[in-house]
Amino acid sequence: MAIDLLDFDTEGLAAWLVARGEKPFRARQVMRWLHRDGEADFDQMTDLSKSLRALLAAEAEVRKPTVMRDAIALDGTRKWLLDVGTGNGIETVFIPETNRGTLCISSQVGCALECAFCSTGRQGFNRNLTAGEIIGQLWHANRALGADLAAGRRVVTNVVMMGMGEPLANFDAVVTALRVMLDDHAYGLSRRRVTLSTSGMVPWIDRLREACPVSLAVSLHAPNDALRDVLVPINRKWPLQALLAACRRYVEGAARLPVGIDDDEEALPPGSVARTKWQRQGSPRDFVTFEYVMLKGVNDSPMHARQLVDLIEDLPCKFNLIPFNPFPDGGFERSPAAAVSAFQAHLIEAGFVATVRKTRGDDIDGACGQLAGQVQDRTQRTARRADAAAAP
Ligand code: SAH
Ligand code: SF4
Repeated sequence: MAIDLLDFDTEGLAAWLVARGEKPFRARQVMRWLHRDGEADFDQMTDLSKSLRALLAAEAEVRKPTVMRDAIALDGTRKWLLDVGTGNGIETVFIPETNRGTLCISSQVGCALECAFCSTGRQGFNRNLTAGEIIGQLWHANRALGADLAAGRRVVTNVVMMGMGEPLANFDAVVTALRVMLDDHAYGLSRRRVTLSTSGMVPWIDRLREACPVSLAVSLHAPNDALRDVLVPINRKWPLQALLAACRRYVEGAARLPVGIDDDEEALPPGSVARTKWQRQGSPRDFVTFEYVMLKGVNDSPMHARQLVDLIEDLPCKFNLIPFNPFPDGGFERSPAAAVSAFQAHLIEAGFVATVRKTRGDDIDGACGQLAGQVQDRTQRTARRADAAAAP
């Protein structure tokens, strides 16, 4: 079968070309055609030699995503369901804002880590996406949204790996796709504009720091192990102290990296005048974002906020509080706005930056935690749940 050119980063493509007698710099040209120009037709790649075009036509292809559904929410959020074969579909969400456009990308078909409050986890798990299927989501969004990178017209300015799946459980493919996102011959995004969110797979957080240190978001959701064990079951394997130590190593590693030219770091959000200890110590620009889903009566009390402050101390971080987004039979309720504000105020008073995530696209089930896609579950989880529900 022909190989998918979207599966390669520049280095991988150069190796593939060299093995076929081509010069390595050809890889950069092909990457530019593919990703900056969005060109999938080899005949249009006019500055490649005829023999190279013939080689590509014979041995390679560009597996463009096929759209099964395309929905636009009242607030402009757009969600695509993309066909990934054998009855499976993954979701990709574009969130337009005044000064930026964020694309939320999936990394797996479903997810094997049954977080209690997550619709994707509820779907079960089918398989990892290939690197081509991951970067293909950005490729597709750029085409669908009329971006022209070659002419400097960017529509997607930020990417978040916060769609379906646990990205660190699909490490190699995710890292290849991240490298393409950062590559100047492809999407040229700064590493601060690409964020990977993990539920806390500790050894892979360290590997990511070595392989491709993009911005890190960690799904914390609870301030103590007893509660986190229930909400984010992977905590039983890597509990909070191990997770926080990995976060600290990550930030320290990232802070040692050279600062790139595109250092368009986001300004602190309005209202967050607070300065944490680390900001007072010379404003390092790298931090971990802790995501915390606000579940009514479960993790949203002043006591939880106090525990959280004690837990984190002065790790360079920001908190992002996410109002729970409901889905059928979710079993949780969203915290009332007053509880969210009180929780936020507590964190800010303690010197942390804390924002509340705006819920976008919920009328098309495009908000955080609502992505269900189309998953042919291979974990038997959905069947087990149905049996349990049927039991007397
Ligand atoms: N698997 C990764 C990334 C995908 S989820 C992770 O867990 O981090 C992106 C964020 O949405 C995570 O913080 C996740 O915990 C959160 N989330 C999941 N279900 C949610 C829901 N129903 N409402 C709000 N946020 C949710
Ligand atoms: Fe998987 Fe993330 Fe959902 Fe947990 S929150 S089930 S890790 S997608």
